[in-house]
Amino acid sequence: MTKNAIILGAGCTGPLLAILLAGRGFKTQIFERRPDPRLGQRETGRSINLALAARGLNALEHAGLRRAVDPWLVPMYGRLVHGLDGSQTLIPYGQRADEMIWSVPRAALNELLLDAAESRGVQIHFGQRCTRADLSRGELEFIDPNARTSHITLDEAQPVFGADGAGSVLRRAMIETGRISAREEFLDHAYKELSIPAGPQGEYQMQREVLHLWPRGGHMLIALPNHDGTFTATLFLARAGDAPNFQMLTDAAAVDAFFTEHYPDARALMPNLVAEFLGHPAGLMGSLYVSQWNLSGQAVLLGDAAHAMVPFHGQGMNCGFEDCVVLEGLLDGAPSWASVFEKFNAERRKDAEAIIRMALENYGEMRDTVRDPSFALQKELSLELERRYPTRFIPKYAMVSFRADIPYSQAESRGAIQTQILNEATRGLTTLAEVDFVAVGAQIEARLTQMPAA
Ligand SMILES: Cc1cc2nc3c(=O)[nH]c(=O)nc-3n(C[C@H](O)[C@H](O)[C@H](O)COP(=O)(O)OP(=O)(O)OC[C@H]3O[C@@H](n4cnc5c(N)ncnc54)[C@H](O)[C@@H]3O)c2cc1C
Repeated sequence: MTKNAIILGAGCTGPLLAILLAGRGFKTQIFERRPDPRLGQRETGRSINLALAARGLNALEHAGLRRAVDPWLVPMYGRLVHGLDGSQTLIPYGQRADEMIWSVPRAALNELLLDAAESRGVQIHFGQRCTRADLSRGELEFIDPNARTSHITLDEAQPVFGADGAGSVLRRAMIETGRISAREEFLDHAYKELSIPAGPQGEYQMQREVLHLWPRGGHMLIALPNHDGTFTATLFLARAGDAPNFQMLTDAAAVDAFFTEHYPDARALMPNLVAEFLGHPAGLMGSLYVSQWNLSGQAVLLGDAAHAMVPFHGQGMNCGFEDCVVLEGLLDGAPSWASVFEKFNAERRKDAEAIIRMALENYGEMRDTVRDPSFALQKELSLELERRYPTRFIPKYAMVSFRADIPYSQAESRGAIQTQILNEATRGLTTLAEVDFVAVGAQIEARLTQMPAA
């Protein structure tokens, strides 16, 4: 097994993979199209902060970076739902003291990973955009910001890891061989990032340790806290078609009127709304299904390059981080890269597809269902059932976000059974006191096997 590895992309997934490979004694190089963000030229247009959950934290711990990331984290204990009438309702994410997710600035996390990778001997080549991967000849082509082209010829059996994001060049090259295929499904909705500044004394203008959510049916606004008193807000709205949509919001008066009508409390905290709205791009969101993530031992895809997903479960980066841990674990005693990649493809792809589906489902929940009184009752019941049957009934959100030991595919299949149980148990009811706990208990015992306790 050759000890040289090449990784395309130094976003979230690439540097973490490099750190884990370097820890195993692999001589690892990363090629990244952007300039070095630590030198002051940060990329714009990407989400400014991200929700980090158990799977991501577990991976950072595994890489020895748990402590380094700590100062950047702001905990979020639940969703604070803002009604149109100004009401605020907290829906906790879980019920144990450690059941929370964390807001982390993308740039700080990225820089921390780059530093850690370099300190472990990883060579990172910035400003090197891979323009072509010729897998039959084992050649990669790069172009730098001065339009100079260079080529790398891969040693025989030297693997290339595609951590180059949703628009992956490596994936394109793999598809061109005719041995794999991919399908991208874009959402009819897009997103736009906005900001809620800190107050005059640098204070938070809304509750700090929650994810703020303004569900409005056809659209929604969310806001995640940053560690400096600001919030990053994101509007999710239809690109075109039925009103309202992004195509209708092209001038200051329309933007102002839209926010004043649908998000009046948030509007009052956004002095730069109009300029930001008209100045920031609207980002596309989609789901990516790739028929196979590897070409024997030559090339493999990880992170968004393999399984881009819509952001509504806050799991894209977490999933990419977990990919790295899974792949690294397969190196133990492996005879060849081909055997590692084949196992990775066979074992991990079903989990990625499960979280892709769950992320799509969560959009409906966040922008719509969360407003429904039956949703609140089902949430309450699911927490009660978890208290009564802690090793059998684990709320789906908790399995995805708080349990790195439960694969996504299992979270999805158990979650589907639990949803049926909750639907049946609450049909026509309005309070927890009306629930027939004996019947529900029998269902749980019969349909859900025991799991390790949290
Ligand atoms: C609005 C929004 C909110 C999100 N919120 C969350 C969240 O809360 N939690 C979460 O877990 N995930 C979230 N995500 C998803 C998360 O951003 C991605 O899953 C994550 O960035 C994927 O990491 P990656 O390294 O695989 O890809 P990327 O982060 O896209 O990194 C790819 C890297 O490859 C480089 N590159 C691309 N092409 C080339 C090339 N040809 N040559 C060389 N380099 C190249 C890019 O410059 C980039 O640095 C969100 C996404 C969006 C859009």
